[in-house]
Amino acid sequence: MSNNASHYDAIVLGAGGAGLMCASVAAQRGRRVLLIDHADQPGKKILISGGGRCNFTNIDTAPDRYLSANPHFAKSALSRYTPADFIALVDRHRIAWHEKTLGQLFCDGSARQIVHMLMEECAKGAVRISLGRPIREVDHADGRFTIRYGDETATAAALVMATGGPSIPKMGATGFAYDLARRFGLKVVEPRPALVPLTLGGDEILFRELSGVAADVVARCGKAVFREAALFTHRGLSGPAILQISSYWRHGEEIGIDFLPSCGRNWLLEAKRARPRSHFHTIVGEALPARLAEALTKKLGLWGELANMPDLKLGEAERRLGDWRFSPNGTEGFAKAEVTAGGISTAELSSQTMEAKTVPGLYAIGEGVDVTGWLGGYNFQWAWASGWAAGQVL
Ligand SMILES: Cc1cc2nc3c(=O)[nH]c(=O)nc-3n(C[C@H](O)[C@H](O)[C@H](O)COP(=O)(O)OP(=O)(O)OC[C@H]3O[C@@H](n4cnc5c(N)ncnc54)[C@H](O)[C@@H]3O)c2cc1C
Repeated sequence: MSNNASHYDAIVLGAGGAGLMCASVAAQRGRRVLLIDHADQPGKKILISGGGRCNFTNIDTAPDRYLSANPHFAKSALSRYTPADFIALVDRHRIAWHEKTLGQLFCDGSARQIVHMLMEECAKGAVRISLGRPIREVDHADGRFTIRYGDETATAAALVMATGGPSIPKMGATGFAYDLARRFGLKVVEPRPALVPLTLGGDEILFRELSGVAADVVARCGKAVFREAALFTHRGLSGPAILQISSYWRHGEEIGIDFLPSCGRNWLLEAKRARPRSHFHTIVGEALPARLAEALTKKLGLWGELANMPDLKLGEAERRLGDWRFSPNGTEGFAKAEVTAGGISTAELSSQTMEAKTVPGLYAIGEGVDVTGWLGGYNFQWAWASGWAAGQVL
């Protein structure tokens, strides 16, 4: 250990949402905390989140809205630091907010306000923050962690891994937390891109012509079902419904899209009875954007007046429009993924404190852990809740 090392009670690696929360909570409990990030500013993902307004929580937060090898793991932290707790913090800082849709809360102003708030909370506890200097070495001996960063050295009895996952590497995201966890003998559930656009190939390339077209759909993959907008892109499918489904999708699986979730059963047969002279594409076009209706009609190979179409064919068309099968050939990868699913195995951690069961003093919080939320503020709520849980015990 260097004689010039500075000593702290806890060192937090990563000044994202989870690290900032954890450091401020521990420091306000009187702990001496050092927070280190290689980026030149804290909370970069907060700044770009929610289109610059940060969807900072979801009032419908519940454990079943998170994916993890252990679906029970997130329960404790989520129940002890709730959306109401974060809203109270936001209110104390007089940050105006609104609910957009589906319980999603956004700043009225800017995501900068959230970063500013968390930095003020850190300042209240006199957290020492080091930005823009790389972490060069992490050692552990005699119950003490030694971190060499830039040209400084710091030691502490507690080390928190809060460096997130590798999604959007161009923003400085890395798999550092996984490498570190593995070095300490902790298992990592294979990381994969989540909340990510899906790509189409083969025959489905034709759908690329629809790039820019959006529709309200129900998307399904296995047991997961989401009713939100889907968007065709030049590479495949995106939009909230697809991003949600992507977290559940695995290579080789099909996804099903109901393009007409508002149409009741037998709607095509009823349309045939009510308006027999109407053209099939006109009827479908009344329920869908014109370009999408045209493409689907072509693919169904149905042309002409409803009166001239057998009921059987219309029934089959309705079934396909209600459960259109796509076989994505991949995702747009970590470069475009809003989050990373998988990560440090929850089996290695205490769900109460986030401390590693086999390495006393080592903690993991936030996106680096194998807990991944739905789209809509759930991932930040996990960052706050897991950061708070560790911050309570450091
Ligand atoms: C475009 C986009 C929009 C999003 N919008 C939302 C939203 O509106 N609502 C929501 O709930 N979630 C949203 N998310 C997800 C959310 O941003 C993350 O789940 C959340 O930021 C995770 O917090 P974290 O603190 O665990 O990790 P991060 O926020 O990723 O923070 C990790 C920190 O560690 C630092 N770091 C990484 N590697 C190293 C290293 N080797 N050395 C030192 N420091 C390192 C990084 O610089 C970063 O500051 C969005 C994500 C993206 C990409």
